[in-house]
Amino acid sequence: MRQPVVIGNWKLNGSPASTEAWVSAVLSGMGALDAVEIGLCPPFVLIPTAVRQAAGSALQIGGQDCAEYLSGAYTGEVSADLLRAVGCHYVILGHSERRALFGETDAVIARKMVRALAAGLVPVLCVGETLAEREAGQMEAVVRQQLRAVVDVVGIQAFERSIIAYEPVWAIGTGVTATPDQAQAMHAFIRGLLAEYNPHVARMVRLQYGGSVKPDNAAQLFSQPDIDGGLIGGASLKAEEFLSICRAAADAR
Ligand code: PEP
Repeated sequence: MRQPVVIGNWKLNGSPASTEAWVSAVLSGMGALDAVEIGLCPPFVLIPTAVRQAAGSALQIGGQDCAEYLSGAYTGEVSADLLRAVGCHYVILGHSERRALFGETDAVIARKMVRALAAGLVPVLCVGETLAEREAGQMEAVVRQQLRAVVDVVGIQAFERSIIAYEPVWAIGTGVTATPDQAQAMHAFIRGLLAEYNPHVARMVRLQYGGSVKPDNAAQLFSQPDIDGGLIGGASLKAEEFLSICRAAADAR
């Protein structure tokens, strides 16, 4: 049985004060939710606040990106090793905003994945098609390419300790959610693709859905057989909304 995992992606939002308040609210509400793994990826500089506040609890903290480099003359970059050193558990890689706004290619993302795995982080690899690609019927080809580019570099075994987030670009931050059927179909496709490499890894890997998940649509999405929780943007900013999404993941088991 795969444990559902729900992770908040704050993007460029939050402050030291809101991080402290959020973590303490989530810790108070998390007690009854041990069936679900719960995480938060705040902006880099808020990570130490979140780690300190979450110390001794099951709440895991992560980064939203990492460098493809170990160290050196890369102004503005943060390495996977540094994230691990300050207490991170996860790192989100290949988010569609990184791909679209910062020009990250599949090759760059694969190199970041190598660094993340070597540092002992759990990568949350994001894949997903644009609306134009879906309308052209190319969504499976796009996701296949995004996944293969990484699997061919890091190897399929790496996915035993990684998470994949299917995030259709047209659903991120738009309020438009994939229907449970659309999301399930893509999740089943991803699992099938991984099964071509290794059926055991395909059965074990956790596949999150992301894209306008809210308290009122989470239960239906998470009750799909191949959806193992969610990567939550906007609705993760308010602790109560986030907790209610975590509850939906626990109830869907
Ligand atoms: C995300 O940023 O990964 C995301 C899914 O955002 P939202 O939930 O706001 O669509």
